[in-house]
Amino acid sequence: MSALTDTWGRVATDLRVSLTDRCNLRCNYCMPAEGLDWLPDDTVLTDDEVIRLVDIAVSRLGVTEVRFTGGEPLVRRGLVDIVRRTAALTPRPEISMTSNALGLSRNAQALADAGLDRVNISLDTIRPDTFHEITRRDRLHDVLAGLYAARDAGLGPVKVNAVLLRGVNDDQAPELLRWCVQEGFELRFIEQMPLDAQHAWSRTEMITADEIFARLDQEFTLTPAAEPRGSAPAELFAVDGGPATVGVIASVTRPFCGDCDRVRLTADGQVRNCLFAREESDLRGPLRDGASDAEIAERWVKAVVTKLPGHGINDPSFLQPARPMSAIGG
Ligand code: SAM
Repeated sequence: MSALTDTWGRVATDLRVSLTDRCNLRCNYCMPAEGLDWLPDDTVLTDDEVIRLVDIAVSRLGVTEVRFTGGEPLVRRGLVDIVRRTAALTPRPEISMTSNALGLSRNAQALADAGLDRVNISLDTIRPDTFHEITRRDRLHDVLAGLYAARDAGLGPVKVNAVLLRGVNDDQAPELLRWCVQEGFELRFIEQMPLDAQHAWSRTEMITADEIFARLDQEFTLTPAAEPRGSAPAELFAVDGGPATVGVIASVTRPFCGDCDRVRLTADGQVRNCLFAREESDLRGPLRDGASDAEIAERWVKAVVTKLPGHGINDPSFLQPARPMSAIGG
């Protein structure tokens, strides 16, 4: 078996698979109100193509974790079947999903039965008015129903991902943490990154990890968690002595690229060796042209070798990738 190793010695074992670039929310730090030009249908990998590529990744390339994302993975019609077929692969990977939870209340159990192990749910506020301000939709109740359904279906530990926006929800960080602790969800704050379709991200406007800690310190005592961080993006802290924890993913101000073990597959079959990569490697073309598994695996290995040592956000020459987060797969 080849490993997905880059020239800096990092090994990619965590595959993020985007199943669609479409989403049913319009979070203002991610997408414009009117949405985007979606990928043409014939460029999006079919269910069979997704499974063939994931199979190559786990059986030949050492991938041990598969996370489905998007866009919004729950809007992909074949999702339950894709999860079932992924769980049947050898060796069986860990299977997780990053989702906004809209509609999850209807199929959390079916997903768990199909083999989904865990979910990360995005939720930036528990106030309906702020939820509408950020997502441009009145769907907070659906997200909460999805979260509870995920917990009841055993898709845990259920993690909650939150982005803080200055003047919008940054003052709600303690409230969100208190609620997550009470409900048994593991909250992670993510620093806002320059990946929005509108290119409106600004370094001075983003809420930094230091600011997040300052807000949380007003109400909680945070102590570094005992468990080693490894390649996890989140720095973990025990809340008021534990056992509850909170995580901070400081991609901008405290990059963790040196420990990155992730590789991404877009919904249209392009490998990206970094969220911020400006180049992609096409697997869809060879796949549809009849390439063998060994040939596709070789392309994949080559795509990862060239991974840069860091994302470069803090370099003066940094250029945002052409695709926004929703089209890469967050
Ligand atoms: N629709 C799914 C969801 O909401 O989780 C999956 C895709 S979404 C792009 C994945 C995560 O990326 C969400 O937690 C979202 O808040 C986050 N995200 C989107 N744009 C971001 C940005 N510019 N900086 C940081 N996180 C962002």
